[in-house]
Amino acid sequence: MALLQIAEPGQFQAPHQHRLAVGIDLGTTNSLVAAVRSGKAATLPDAAGRHLLPSVVRYLPDQGRVVGEEARAAAATDPLNTIISVKRLMGRGLEDIRKLGTEMPYRFRPSLQGMPAFETVQGDKTPVEVSADILRHLRERAEATLGGELAGAVITVPAYFDEAQRQATRDAATVAGLKVLRLLNEPTAAAVAYGLDHQAEGVHAIYDLGGGTFDISLLRLHQGVFEVLATGGDAALGGDDFDRAIALWFMKRHGIDSPDAGLQRDILQQACAAKEALTAAESVTLAAAGYQDELTRAEFEALIMPLVEKTLKACRRCLRDAGLKTDEIREVVMVGGSTRVPLVRHRVGEFFGRPVLTDIDPDKVVAVGAAIQADVLAGNKPDSTMLLLDVIPLSLGLETMGGLVEKIVPRNTPIPVTRVQEFTTYQDGQTAMSIHVLQGERELVADCRSLARFTLRGIPPMAAGAARIRVVFQVDADGLLEVSATEMQTGARSEIVVKPSYGLSDGDVERMLSDSWQQAEADKAARALLEEKVESRAILEAVRQALKVDGGLLCEGELKTLEEGIKHLDIALGSSQIVVVRKAREALTPLADAFAARRMNQHIQEALSGHKLSDWE
Ligand code: ADP
Ligand code: MG
Repeated sequence: MALLQIAEPGQFQAPHQHRLAVGIDLGTTNSLVAAVRSGKAATLPDAAGRHLLPSVVRYLPDQGRVVGEEARAAAATDPLNTIISVKRLMGRGLEDIRKLGTEMPYRFRPSLQGMPAFETVQGDKTPVEVSADILRHLRERAEATLGGELAGAVITVPAYFDEAQRQATRDAATVAGLKVLRLLNEPTAAAVAYGLDHQAEGVHAIYDLGGGTFDISLLRLHQGVFEVLATGGDAALGGDDFDRAIALWFMKRHGIDSPDAGLQRDILQQACAAKEALTAAESVTLAAAGYQDELTRAEFEALIMPLVEKTLKACRRCLRDAGLKTDEIREVVMVGGSTRVPLVRHRVGEFFGRPVLTDIDPDKVVAVGAAIQADVLAGNKPDSTMLLLDVIPLSLGLETMGGLVEKIVPRNTPIPVTRVQEFTTYQDGQTAMSIHVLQGERELVADCRSLARFTLRGIPPMAAGAARIRVVFQVDADGLLEVSATEMQTGARSEIVVKPSYGLSDGDVERMLSDSWQQAEADKAARALLEEKVESRAILEAVRQALKVDGGLLCEGELKTLEEGIKHLDIALGSSQIVVVRKAREALTPLADAFAARRMNQHIQEALSGHKLSDWE
């Protein structure tokens, strides 16, 4: 992952000469090319006046290929040679594709460097080559429209794209004969298109609901710099799912059980057309497989409501990651064709409690922003600068009692950053503390990546919990992490330098992130069990200690009950069932409390009898 991207002013400067540069939105569903002409950024249409190029490539038996609308039209009749949604496969290996789990109608074969390839009539095609065909088509369109060779292009990628996915995109551009001026994050491009970089400082939310993906990004503009505060979303949620919801509704109504691939695509295309028409119309007619049906907007909204709510859930999570509330968001930018759906606009506006920005065509806004940036990078606007900061891809934390990880710097925190947290000792008289630095989203040490270990010595012996150890995490702009621990009373100090972003491949990052989402529930249970055990052990320890000192305060029967409770909890601690441990602890707790109360009374009496009243004055 690139750490810090800075556009040097006038980097490609050639005075008195306007260099042709374009912005390209290489989308999962649709792609666009835009350029700044006479000071205005706009997308470039093809000869037929169409701006959107469906990101579909069809390979023909005669070595020819078609890209765009014509290719998409053939998807139903020639599914194996018509490649759609190739963006999902960029930078992925065969293994990843199996894990993606979406039913793709293609045959894959291993190819270069573990890259998968589609088996087509023209032989094997890698995702990079397919994307290159889309990019080449857009390059040719731009060169024909602008009347010359391009000096370069800014190509947009999702903010969450890892290094492999970004590299694959670059490679595709190279294969297409394009010079990449910069890969720009899609949400940043959208913000630039609205000129938010020239407006007041603040945090903006970019809500991007495309064909097959949903992305939510929070960007902070601060001193002319866009920081990606947090990103979130769902890689398998978009307008296609709206289509699928309609198709299922249709098939259910007409008892269509298992349509073949061709019929399935036909119904889906009809569903898609119906959905798009419903953005303006109150009701539409749907015809497929010899059946005909009427779908109203209200019925459609009921079908997609759960999907829309799912996007809002992701927004909530992203806000939480960034530590923000909805009222701290200045502007909400709507991106992606699916944000045309009135229900989507309505619910997103409600969620953020403000009108959403929709003035710029939601499916052109990313390309427009990229074109503005390309114009700057090509040196046509020597005074402009733009910085984009990076964030920490995975949380950084420390091991605490019971093999748990305490997160100190949560993922998505922009760097540079310094975070301080205080810890204490666990045992009486403890003079050293082992500091274990970890990275990952999971709750348990065993599931995170160990980055470094060091020991803080020279803690003065004190009762457990009395020492104060201040731990400082510092990540500089290059992603270099330094951790130091200081005992506050003596100033004893120890530190270590680690490099969190090195040695962790982006595949690792990806895997760890998706693991954490899938494992969140299991982790919670494991964490609860560990916490229960830590607490139970603390009680056992305290009661045993107290018995040694004050066992005499109990009568024989009481002593027996207490000892039985202790034994019971001791055995229960070996169980992996939280209820077993909790029951045993809950059985012992009242006995332990009563004993503690008895001891307290006894000690107060002793104290009072040994002192004169005047001692208390
Ligand atoms: P991507 O970023 O994935 O390439 P786009 O932003 O181009 O996708 O969005 C494509 C999606 O937008 C498709 O699902 C398409 O059906 C949907 N869409 C386009 N126009 C409309 C419309 N008028 N109403 C509803 N959905 C639309
Ligand atoms: Mg898009």
